[in-house]
Amino acid sequence: RAIPVHGLLEGVVERFQLQAAKQELSLRVHLPQRRDVCVYGDEDMVNRVLDNVLSNALKYTPPGGRIEVRADVTAQHVTFIISDTGIGIPPEDLPHVFERFYRVEKGRSRRGGGTGLGLALAREMVERMGGEIRMESEPQRGTTVYVTLRRAEEDAV
Ligand code: ATP
Ligand code: MG
Repeated sequence: RAIPVHGLLEGVVERFQLQAAKQELSLRVHLPQRRDVCVYGDEDMVNRVLDNVLSNALKYTPPGGRIEVRADVTAQHVTFIISDTGIGIPPEDLPHVFERFYRVEKGRSRRGGGTGLGLALAREMVERMGGEIRMESEPQRGTTVYVTLRRAEEDAV
């Protein structure tokens, strides 16, 4: 139940590194200073959440863009932060992106694919783990997703 944050971050970046390079995107990870920081959750679910969010970052960022993954650690929580320099989301669409099947019209023209389920599923999984997911975005500038989970005691590893 206690999952090391370092491993989660290294894993997700590794899974997307090749695809990022193919799309001419820079994908960088910033690891927290402390190696022993852990979160509570289901490892499979956390990975699926991170994969969904990161796949969006790759899908909605044009070549030459940058994607960064990091974790903000406080006494009680760990927030995974995934930011991209992509197409962004119009303010009127932002409140709806976590709804099932919701897709921004402009986004649809870009590489067609997608059902609009990724973020709805991500939110469901995060909430099942007692966490929180939110998003900030600015059209033409980029998007940042925050996934907050409860921090685990180090000695629980
Ligand atoms: P799926 O994930 O099911 O393959 P999808 O990516 O379209 O399809 P979601 O992941 O739920 O669906 O995202 C919903 C919508 O939010 C997307 O269609 C897109 O319009 C917008 N969106 C999500 N992430 C980003 C992002 N990083 N940058 C710009 N738009 C985004
Ligand atoms: Mg998606």
